[in-house]
Amino acid sequence: MQSKPVIFFLLFIAFGKTLHAQPDRWQQRVEYQMEIDFDAKKHQFTGTQTLKYYNNSPDALNRVFYHLYFNAFQPGSNMDVRSQNQPDPDPRVRDRISKLKPEEMGWHKVTSLTMNGKPCKYEVNETILEVDLPEAIQPNSTATLVMEFQSQVPIQIRRSGRNSRDGIDYSMSQWYPKMCEYDDQGWHSDPYVAREFYGVWGDFDVNISIDKKYILGASGILQNGGNIGYGYEPKGTAVRWGKEDKLTWHWRAENVHDFAWTADPDYKHITLERKDGLTLHFLYQDKEETRKTWEAAPKQMDKVFDFVNKNFGQYPYKSYAFLEGGDGGMEYPMATLVAGKAGIGTFIHESLHAWYYGLLGTNESLYAWMDEGFTEYATSEVENFLKKEGLMGGTPDENPHLDANASMIQFNKSGREEPLSIHADHFTNNASYSVGAYVKGHVILTQLQYIMGKPVFDKAMLRYFDTWKFRHPNANDFIRIMEKESGLELDWFKEYFVFTTKTIDYGIKTVEKASRKETKVVLERIGLTPMPLDITVTYRDSKKRIYHLPLDLMRGAKKGTEFTGDKFTVLPDWRWTHPTYEFTLDEKFRRIEKVEIDVSQRLLDWDRGNNVWKKDGNGEDEDEDEKED
Ligand SMILES: [Zn+2]
Repeated sequence: MQSKPVIFFLLFIAFGKTLHAQPDRWQQRVEYQMEIDFDAKKHQFTGTQTLKYYNNSPDALNRVFYHLYFNAFQPGSNMDVRSQNQPDPDPRVRDRISKLKPEEMGWHKVTSLTMNGKPCKYEVNETILEVDLPEAIQPNSTATLVMEFQSQVPIQIRRSGRNSRDGIDYSMSQWYPKMCEYDDQGWHSDPYVAREFYGVWGDFDVNISIDKKYILGASGILQNGGNIGYGYEPKGTAVRWGKEDKLTWHWRAENVHDFAWTADPDYKHITLERKDGLTLHFLYQDKEETRKTWEAAPKQMDKVFDFVNKNFGQYPYKSYAFLEGGDGGMEYPMATLVAGKAGIGTFIHESLHAWYYGLLGTNESLYAWMDEGFTEYATSEVENFLKKEGLMGGTPDENPHLDANASMIQFNKSGREEPLSIHADHFTNNASYSVGAYVKGHVILTQLQYIMGKPVFDKAMLRYFDTWKFRHPNANDFIRIMEKESGLELDWFKEYFVFTTKTIDYGIKTVEKASRKETKVVLERIGLTPMPLDITVTYRDSKKRIYHLPLDLMRGAKKGTEFTGDKFTVLPDWRWTHPTYEFTLDEKFRRIEKVEIDVSQRLLDWDRGNNVWKKDGNGEDEDEDEKED
């Protein structure tokens, strides 16, 4: 009888925990309905795309733009020329596009386009379709764009295409005319040069008619699986027969920003139904050399989803598919394309993109590091967890992120690092782009963890997810969440890490007797990037004391050290303009054995050689009052 208030109280706690106001920022919306008729003999298809476009912006739009990604796979394209002029081209692309024969190329041909029944003027500018609308789409109104198109699937060069190295017939990603995103930074109609993606949030309803020998996997949920009999849950209606020799696969994906699919006649399809209602799908060619990985994957990925749901936010869809296809590993909403020989690490990385890309839909061209780097960070956490559980080979580490720090410093020392603020397509070479996106993005999180303390950082990552899921967070949005959760000012951190290649290097200058009972420590800042510091002092009796030295720019300090849970003493701020910092230990000099900056090695410190001061000599005791304690 007394249970009611208890229940209310518990409900309040349960919901109160994750309630973070969603941002008040407009974003566009799309609803795609596509009818695809696939001719597998010619590797071509025709499509009718009905797109309902919601202009939620305050602007009247006279023009719209579509991506026509397949047009990149033609000799002389932006992707071709860019690849041939890179000092370190992707071996998958190199000069391969320049050698494509007409029947091997990719293309989209738009045969008609109307808006609300009226014809549009349009021009194909390689991978971008530029459309002049018959009348402007007014703010807060919708328009229906109907497009007829024909496409040819290229042989696989990069990500999508036919006949992958592993022998998957069709890897259909970036495969349809896709509306470019318009946001408060304007249009994002970037020509496709093999890098990053950005899409409009919305729903996809896709009918694919294809030779009945094929088994399909896709983003979204199959609506008419009942009669297909490949293990899909018997939900929708019976399979609709298109032409005699074809099956029509009807898919729906809701609240996503892209749609990908694959097809192969030799797919084996296994599923795992999770307790939370999510079905994991695995479609792969059952081959001797890759069987072990694919058979082990369901159990491992089930654990991964448990871990990630708890630590990075709840996956909200009812389906996720691991599809053998593509040329390595590539993420799409509710699905990933992975090569047959991909290891479990690739499965984990790509599925984590369901969070950092799939649900937190950053503009990857502008913030590739928030997509790849955050995914890398989470991958390290997940792999460490699986190692602890014995579900993955290798020994777990106390800190699984140390390698990322080391690689970042090494790359910076090579002199090739470029600022993260560069648009992903415009980095000078592939290495500076990929280290920037994957590694620096990763270490940005390790450094925030260092600044805020791990428990606070972990909560902030969940809050970031809750606040920005189904949206387009940018760098500022992310750092604001970190600020709100930690109570610290962090704009300086974002400015240094995103806009510069400046580095961190702190050292211990001197440790000396200050008075009979006191010791003076002088630290120096050698690198230009300022950071707070953890300092550990070891005494002669092996006791340790930890000091935390906040940076004035933070206007506060973290609450505790991350890994050890040790208590620390907070010292006065280090003002960022000051190259040195002095503090006094309330201890006799002879009792100090060692002073060390960042024992845990989490700080992205360029030169660790100057981080430790150790008492030299063999315990010469010139102090006369040794017996005092
Ligand atoms: Zn990735």
